[in-house]
Amino acid sequence: MRIQISSKELNSRNKTIKHFLKPIARDYQDLYVGSTGSSTTQYIASAKDNSSRTTGRYDDMRFRTVIPSLRAMYYERWYRIDKSKGKFYYLDRAYLHIYMIEPALAEEKEFCLLHCDPNEPDNAAHAKYKQSLHLHIECTDSSCSPHCHIWPHAHIALNTGYLNHVLRDVNSLTQAIEEAVLMLREEVFDLFLKLR
Ligand SMILES: [Zn+2]
Repeated sequence: MRIQISSKELNSRNKTIKHFLKPIARDYQDLYVGSTGSSTTQYIASAKDNSSRTTGRYDDMRFRTVIPSLRAMYYERWYRIDKSKGKFYYLDRAYLHIYMIEPALAEEKEFCLLHCDPNEPDNAAHAKYKQSLHLHIECTDSSCSPHCHIWPHAHIALNTGYLNHVLRDVNSLTQAIEEAVLMLREEVFDLFLKLR
């Protein structure tokens, strides 16, 4: 239970999430971050805009990005812990998924995934890459072998070697997510803009 916050701090989390998603969101005013699928034991914050379904699970929610053919999902899942000092929550996962929307296809396709699984057990496979921010690069339909067999399965850790620093507290992790989203905007989304 590395990243813990009080229920009071959790109240401002939606606003923080909305702020760090700004570089990739098509319309910041339209972006809504709120609780979906929360219960007495968990709190799930997810992002959506008016292009999203009105009902569904937190992982069904989507928002438009600065690139019309890319749509995104972001959610954080927090689990409750009761301490003598009051109610606290720990972060189980924070996932940002970027999907490609091809008009010819009815379905969306994963493009790249930014994950953070801080609660992954230390002895689990790939734990030191999964616990902090890592990218999965999707290219399963690439004709260029072996890329398609390697990149989607690899955990490309963004802050490898600095795990303890990034996971020190929620502020440190938030800052790392903010930088990672900005990097995706400048290094990935902006390349899409140039393709047009
Ligand atoms: Zn992952």
